[in-house]
Amino acid sequence: MAVEARFRDDYADRPGHGNGEYRSGHYDRRVDVGDPVKLTVVGCSPAWPNPGGAQSGYLLEGSKRLLLDCGPGVLARLREEEGWPRVDAIAITHFHLDHWGDLVPWVWGSLYGLGHDLPRVELWLPPTGSHQLAAFGERLGWPDMFERVFDLRAYAEGTPFQAAGFEVVPLRLPHYTLETYGFRVTNGKKTVAYSGDSGPSERLAELARDADLFLCEATLITGEADGTPRGHLCLAEAQEAFDAAGARRLLITHRPRELPSENGFELAYDGMQVEV
Ligand SMILES: [Zn+2]
Repeated sequence: MAVEARFRDDYADRPGHGNGEYRSGHYDRRVDVGDPVKLTVVGCSPAWPNPGGAQSGYLLEGSKRLLLDCGPGVLARLREEEGWPRVDAIAITHFHLDHWGDLVPWVWGSLYGLGHDLPRVELWLPPTGSHQLAAFGERLGWPDMFERVFDLRAYAEGTPFQAAGFEVVPLRLPHYTLETYGFRVTNGKKTVAYSGDSGPSERLAELARDADLFLCEATLITGEADGTPRGHLCLAEAQEAFDAAGARRLLITHRPRELPSENGFELAYDGMQVEV
C-alpha cells in the first residue's frame, strides 16, 4: 500500500512534478523492469530536524518497497499509514545518526511490537556495517540485536546489488572523514540517484548520470560554511553536480528550513510524493 502525502506539507506551494523519458537497458532478472516508480519523501531534515520534521528516509516503490536511509522520525511517519511498515529492504548510506537512527526502535518494535509477525527486512549496509551495528548493539541492547530482526547484507563500492526489485549501485562519496555512499537506483527504465550526504565531488555526476531524478542534498548556505574536509553541498554546488550529470530533474533535500531558498530550486518536503 502506498504511503500518502498526509504528513505535514511544509513546501506545498513549491513547483510540482515532472516526467523523465523512458530508456531501455539490460538488467538482472531480479530487477522488476518497467514498473512505475514512486518516491515518497518520508523525512528530509538535515542533521538537526526541521520543525515537526523527520530525518532522512526516502521510500521507493515499484513492485516492492525499498527504504533509503532510516533516520529519527522515519519509523513514526511510516507507522502513520500502517501499523508496522511493510518494506522489503532498507539501504543505509552511512552511519551518521540522522541516516540510520530509527533502526534501533525498528528492532524493538520487531521484537516486541507489531513488527513481530512480519517477514524479516533485508538491511543493506556499507562494507563494515555489520561490525558497526554489532558495536552499537553492544551498548544499546545486545551485540546481535540488529541481526535478530534484519537480514544483514553488506554492499561493496561500485558493485550493483538487487533489493526490493531494484538494482542499486553504491558509490563512495566524500563526507568529512566518514565512509559514506550515494545510491543509484534503477528498475531498468527509471533511475533515481540519491546523494546521501556528500561534499563536492565529480563522483556525484557519475552517480546521477542521465538519471530521471537526482535527489541531492544541500545542507549549506555556502561552501565556505563547511568543515574540512568537506562534507556537504550548498545549492550552487548541488546545481553544478546536477548539470554535470545531465540528470532530468533535481530535487533538493537535507536542507535546514531556516536557510533561504533560491528561486528555481525544487525542495523536498516530508510527505512529498513523486512519480518518477
Ligand atoms: Zn545527514
